[in-house]
Amino acid sequence: MFADKDISKFNNIETPFYYYDTDLLQKTLSNCAEAAANYQFHIHYALKANFNTVLLNQIKAVGFGADCVSAGEVRRAVEVGFDHQKIVFAGVGKSDKEINEALDLDIFCFNVESIQELEVLNELAAKKGKTAQVAIRINPNVDAHTHHNITTGLDENKFGINSWDLPACADTLKASANLKFIGIHFHIGSQITNLDVYKNLCVRVNEFATWFEDKGFTLKVLNVGGGLGIDYYNPDHQIPDFAAYFKIFNDFLTVKPGQEVHFELGRALVGQSAALITRVLYIKNGKKKNFVVLDAGMTELMRPALYQAYHKIENLTRGAGTAVKYDIVGPICESTDCFGKEVEQPESFRGDVFAIRSAGAYGEVMASKYNLRDAIRSVYSSEI
Ligand SMILES: *Cc1c(COP(=O)(O)O)cnc(C)c1O
Repeated sequence: MFADKDISKFNNIETPFYYYDTDLLQKTLSNCAEAAANYQFHIHYALKANFNTVLLNQIKAVGFGADCVSAGEVRRAVEVGFDHQKIVFAGVGKSDKEINEALDLDIFCFNVESIQELEVLNELAAKKGKTAQVAIRINPNVDAHTHHNITTGLDENKFGINSWDLPACADTLKASANLKFIGIHFHIGSQITNLDVYKNLCVRVNEFATWFEDKGFTLKVLNVGGGLGIDYYNPDHQIPDFAAYFKIFNDFLTVKPGQEVHFELGRALVGQSAALITRVLYIKNGKKKNFVVLDAGMTELMRPALYQAYHKIENLTRGAGTAVKYDIVGPICESTDCFGKEVEQPESFRGDVFAIRSAGAYGEVMASKYNLRDAIRSVYSSEI
């Protein structure tokens, strides 16, 4: 529960809206930055998780770089003032237009996901008389043990270059005069809570690094991506255990002198810093089910509809009361527009304010206009 918040503050604000706790975000960022500094690790924040500029300004201020997956995100990072030389650009389908834009902005590194993309990037860089720094995104075939819709590092996934294509990839790199090969990149999935997965990743990274070094390449950058999960069941004051996470890489990754280790964290940095605040429109008590119909739905927070994601739901208006099981649904004309089934809540009434917790990552950024809904607004703890 938002124990330390005076929730009466929400009563006069039109719902639904994202409520950002910028103090918690600051604590999370500082904690991560300090833990990473112990090992001189480099952090790029994955804008994909949340590209709200208020948050980006805070994130930039702790010195992190940016991890982008579209030209739009690269542009946003530059606009907010991230150092161009701390911006990396990944993505399995970068268009020529996007590549050209990123070349013009002199970003730090393209994380390249196919041999054909290497060829196109080399050609486009040559046309501009530039040299593009590249890292190869390798698919390491490591199981992230996360939801199948958010795993990315297995042979059957579309991401990265598969190990059997690496000899051809090495040839292309050698033949590409306008590419500077600086390292290898991995990102095996999201919402990873079992840290052993990262031990397995380290073992694979060491193997691939040795393979490239044996071929005469020097790797300046080992980029191990992101994916560190958060505890959706216990959202209160929760800061992920960055110290334990970074220690795994310090213990298991072989880092040569002069080599840099880079990370791309999204969810772990912003996930707990927001809640979706919404009001009960209607209560429908049926024979088999009781429904709470909220004024927020999958158009505001899509994760439950998209991959059955769990979010803790709280009635902020009724602290205690008779417990009732409800299906908590939104107003959208889709049966999957449901935040939780058979969720126990105090007996709820029209007008009650609900919080859907841990909504800082992959929340606001996935909002859609479906059903021609109004754009979702944001409110910051520093404002109210
Ligand atoms: C999405 C993404 C990330 C961040 O993932 P999180 O699970 O939010 O930490 C990092 N790197 C790449 C390439 C991504 O696509």
